[in-house]
Order: sequence, then structure tokens, then C-alpha cells
Amino acid sequence: MRDFFNNVPEELWLDYRWQIQHRIKDLKTIGKYLKLLPEEIEGFKETRGRYPFAITPYYLSLINPEDPEDPIRLQAIPRSVEMDPEAQRDGDPNPFREETILPGLTHRYPDRVLMSLTTFCPVYCRHCMRKRIFGDGERSRTQNEILQMLNYIKETPSIREVILSGGEPLSLSNRKLEFIFSEIRKIKHVEIIRIGTRMPVLTPQRFFDKNLLEILERYQPIWISTHFNHPNEVTELAQKAVDNILKTGTPVINQTVLLKGVNDHPETMLSLMKKLTTIKVKPQYIFHCDPIKGAMHFRTTLEKGLEIISYLRGKIGGYGIPTYAVDLPGGKGKVPILPEYFRRISGNTYSFTTFTGEKVLYSIYEHSSQTPAGSLPRDQGFP
Ligand SMILES: *Cc1c(COP(=O)(O)O)cnc(C)c1O
Repeated sequence: MRDFFNNVPEELWLDYRWQIQHRIKDLKTIGKYLKLLPEEIEGFKETRGRYPFAITPYYLSLINPEDPEDPIRLQAIPRSVEMDPEAQRDGDPNPFREETILPGLTHRYPDRVLMSLTTFCPVYCRHCMRKRIFGDGERSRTQNEILQMLNYIKETPSIREVILSGGEPLSLSNRKLEFIFSEIRKIKHVEIIRIGTRMPVLTPQRFFDKNLLEILERYQPIWISTHFNHPNEVTELAQKAVDNILKTGTPVINQTVLLKGVNDHPETMLSLMKKLTTIKVKPQYIFHCDPIKGAMHFRTTLEKGLEIISYLRGKIGGYGIPTYAVDLPGGKGKVPILPEYFRRISGNTYSFTTFTGEKVLYSIYEHSSQTPAGSLPRDQGFP
């Protein structure tokens, strides 16, 4: 697909501003690049005004136009299934309802707050957990709203970490970002800034901007949490972006969402985790897909996720195996779920399941900490 953009000079292709300005946003233009399927044409018509569409030339260039089920195509191009009654069934109309403190500020865990800075994104992912709000248009928080959020953080000493989220927080100008970072750094009890960004996947060119990299370096400790879902997204440019981020001293972790048709296959996930660890991105989570109105068709069973986690064990270093988790509705938080690796048989004896599936009996005794090292048991209790 890069062939379509062969006439674009390299220096423009590598400029994030060009990528953002040249986003494809309508049916007619995307039709020049992809032979759309009937359900995609229907999807464009039915989702208009409700769930916006946009894609950067870069992310579009990763689609194999010959494959109607291409994993990037499924994440980015609307389909009529989004408007099916079943996909419109909604478990939780606003997952952050209970925890919203101020417009844009979510405080669920005592030590961490989430600032949602904008509804703008370079690409509107069809599975997005914020899908519900994107129909209202692209809007960034006002200076006043940001100041109010910062004030709440300043007055809440339990907050150790501020997570910048969106939409896409790194779509804000460097000036705005630097203002927010410097204001957060004035608050003594905040130790960590985390940026939840999909730019490394959708517009890795953002991290070829020297000014942004200098800002990241200046306001450490910062963590970047990103969102790769498929090995095809781990490109040379994505690797360069991650390299540039790492050089600023910022660790990069990844959150994948388990999506039917995109990555619900053990081999696909293994390949993704191998590629991520090779470019030095630590897989943090695989999330079970939330009940999101318009994205129900992406949901799998829990057993599928457990099968994938079991498959990964033994095939990649432990740091390459993310935590599989469900984000409970009503602000109840993320709960890790694991395959059953051990079971108590009797007394102190447990049955363990190894990475090859073998069952091994093993006894666990509690160490009696009363016995000083080297002393003989019969000495105990004597002066
Ligand atoms: C996911 C989330 C966090 C961060 O959770 P981690 O397990 O630290 O990644 C914080 N606040 C809210 C509201 C969240 O949804």
C-alpha cells in the first residue's frame, strides 16, 4: 500500500504534521485506495455522525488491500456490524461515570488519576473504549478545565501518578504538553507521569520531532503506555519511534486488546509479543474486550484469552507475557485472570501444571522462623 504514496517525498512522509493533515476521512477518498466491501460501504453510511472515521496515510499503508480481513483494516474501516442491534447492546453507557471528579478527570485508584485531554485521534479505532464520545466532535480541554484538574491533583496528596489520556494526548501541541508537564512537576507528591498514547502505532513520526523528545527528557520520570494489537503494526518506523522514546529515558509498555478476527489466535499473539520485546517494549496487559456499544462484534470468550496466555508460557521470556485482565464495569477496576496453574491436593501437597502441560505434585512447608540457623532442634527451649 505504500506504493500509493510513492509520490510523497520522504521528508513529508516522515513528518507527523503531514500525516495528521492528510488523514483520509471520507468514503470517497478511501475508495481510491481500497476496493470497499459492501458491509464497509454500508458501515460508512450507517455510522456517519455517530462514530467518526479517520486514518493516517501511514496506518492505511499497512493494510494489505488484497485481504478483506486484514487486521489493520478491521481496526480502522467502519462496518455495518457496528450498528447491528446486538453490537448496540451496551453493558455500561459510561464506564467512568462513578469516578469522574471533574470534566476529564477520573480518579479510581487512590494513587493514580487519569486526565482525558482531548477527543481528537489520528485514527478512530473501531474497537475504541471511548467510542461513545467521539461522535460529539473533536474537542480539547480548555485551559481552565486543565487548571481545575491540576488543582484537584495538587490538593490530593494520595496521588502519586498522573496518566495523560484522550483521545490522543500527544496530538496536543508541544507547548501545551510542556505546560501540563511543568505544572505537574510543581506538585511534590506526584512522582510518575504516564502517557497513554497510540502514536507509536498510528503515527510513529510524532517521535521524530526533536522538540517533543527534549520535553520528554526534561520531565522524567515518564512512562509511555502504548497500544499495539497486531504484529503487522510493529514496523521499522514504529521501531525507530520506540528507539527515540527509549533514548529519552522513558520506558515503553504495551496494552493489547483481545479482538476477534484481529488477534484472537495464540500464534498471532506470540508473534506480537516476540516483536514487541525485540523492539524493547514490555507487554503489560492483554485486556478482554469491554462491552462497548458499537464494538460488541470484537468480543471473544474469556476461555480464548486464557488459551492464549497458556500458550505463551514457555515460548517467550517471562517479561514477554502480559497480564490478561478484565476491566469490570462500574469503576470496579481491572482484575487479572490466570489459567489454573496449581491446585491443593491434600495437606501441604499441591498439583502444579508446567509449561508443557505436565502435572507435578509438590509439597510446600512453612519454614519455622523460630529455629536460629545452625542450632540443633533438641537445643530448643533450653537456656
Ligand atoms: C486503567 C486505569 C488506570 C491504570 O491502571 P494500571 O493497572 O495502573 O494500568 C488508572 N485509572 C483508571 C480510571 C483506569 O481505567
